Amino acid sequence: MASVRALNDQVPVAIVVLGTGAVDTARRIQARYPGSLVHGLASRVQGDVTFTELGLHLRELYARNTPIVALCAAGIVIRCLASAVGDKTHEPPVLAVAEDGSAVVPLLGGLGGVNVMAREIAAALDVAPAITTSGELRFGTCLLNPPAGYVLADIEHGKRFVSDLLAGATTRIEGHAPWLDAADLPRAADAGLAIRITPHTSEVAGELMIHPRCAVVCVTVLPSAGSIVERVRESLREQRIAPMALAAVLAPLSMMTSGLLAEAAQVLDVPLRFGTLRADFVMLESLDDGVTIALAPQPLDPSTLGQARGTLTVIGLGPGSADLMVPAARSALSLADDVLGYETYVRMAGPFAPHQVLHCTDNREEMQRARHAFELASTGRNVVVVSSGDPGVFAMAAAVLEALDQARDNALWNAVELQVVPGVSAALATAARAGAPLGHDFCMLSLSDNLKPWGVIETRLRHAAQADLVMAFYNPVSRARPWQLDRALDIVREYRSAETLIVLGRNIGRPGETLTTTTLDKLRSSQVDMRTMVIVGSSTTRSFPRTDGNGDWVYTPRWYE
Ligand code: SAH
Repeated sequence: MASVRALNDQVPVAIVVLGTGAVDTARRIQARYPGSLVHGLASRVQGDVTFTELGLHLRELYARNTPIVALCAAGIVIRCLASAVGDKTHEPPVLAVAEDGSAVVPLLGGLGGVNVMAREIAAALDVAPAITTSGELRFGTCLLNPPAGYVLADIEHGKRFVSDLLAGATTRIEGHAPWLDAADLPRAADAGLAIRITPHTSEVAGELMIHPRCAVVCVTVLPSAGSIVERVRESLREQRIAPMALAAVLAPLSMMTSGLLAEAAQVLDVPLRFGTLRADFVMLESLDDGVTIALAPQPLDPSTLGQARGTLTVIGLGPGSADLMVPAARSALSLADDVLGYETYVRMAGPFAPHQVLHCTDNREEMQRARHAFELASTGRNVVVVSSGDPGVFAMAAAVLEALDQARDNALWNAVELQVVPGVSAALATAARAGAPLGHDFCMLSLSDNLKPWGVIETRLRHAAQADLVMAFYNPVSRARPWQLDRALDIVREYRSAETLIVLGRNIGRPGETLTTTTLDKLRSSQVDMRTMVIVGSSTTRSFPRTDGNGDWVYTPRWYE
């Protein structure tokens, strides 16, 4: 059989594992599908991704159209997915594989290529797949599941066609269908039935229509009235091109920021690409100069056509532990082609798929990193820049915006889809561990005089101390800045009493986390390092013992006397 891949070529396979006994088999399957991730049940097994509730997790993957290989009993998968199973033309392949790799059972997603995957996995595990589809058994390939780049026009019609063949009818093949060469079909040159491979629409009875996805809509002028989608549909009708044969919308680079185009491509459910057509496309004649259809000689891989609009997403990882990272940051990471950041943070952002490129740099090279991010994103890549905590708090978001502000005349950088995803900042994470010391007015100050004069820091400290704000100190000390914290505390002591509560959070959300509550008179700078968050209470910040004996709860009441 020809190498027929699932329609879901782009989507990483989720290999779901419930216990350590299945890990070996899971890794063998993972090696077969580069980019796939092992999803492990949190309490039992270490995966690339963890989950806590199997049913919920499987339904989520299914809803996102992620191919699922579950290393457990078929019955478990069936029970978990039963309530979610819907339209079979829109579902991912779902397979159950025995923990020890001795059985491979395709369950759902016949039209998404589940039998193809079953064969691939079975070959990798050196067993026979449990294929149960009758048309498939007989013809060696599923006519109803053409390979990537081709789509079946009408599934109901297709089923009747396969029944006719099973009942003894013969067929011709009209058009180019290389994957059928190896299939054991009852062919006859004069057959009444035909399998027709064409991007055109046709109403001939007794034909199984398969459309190669080779049509591209070229939009060169945005319509001043009416919708782009309507214009595209009209052009397709005019040229008798099946909407299913559409592979992409192509527009000039200058239209990259058009929201209308993005929306239209989304409605048409095809990728939006920017650039020019290759010479081997045939332009179809059009009444409309702004919207033209072109046909590629073969099914088109849209990623080879021009470029996508690149994205640059600046994310915060939170203080460290995965459960304190916001889901939007996790999802940006999973879509990233490139990840840039200080090496420690990039490592914290993993695990990564093999195709993802990591660019680790020194913590001080922020502007250079920001520019590099725009360079990469402007070629159409999905780029993520990582910071710890929140990216907008003494971190990369401001550097990225500064780089863009300095390049206002750079059309390519300005066409990048830029987004900032917030994160849990160290002050908030530390405060939550301690209770609620930031429960009333507070300020965040960086004690680093690398990028601002020490005089400015002193003035702000004085004003904040005088205003009785709770203060969160970022970058309190470093080897290169040994005296600054003591000087800052001297200033605070001029305005706050000796009993003022101090919270020290060190490595919050990371291995070796510690939380210390002390008072202003007892605080020594030797208790603080660059991984520490210092929260200085106001005159109203108070504390009381926890019942579990783990120190005190610290809070600042919401009211003021
Ligand atoms: N963008 C980050 C702050 C970067 S500045 C954020 O929003 O949290 C770096 C300083 O943040 C460190 O010197 C330390 O004071 C503080 N910090 C960062 N992560 C921390 C953590 N996990 N625990 C305690 N303090 C942390």
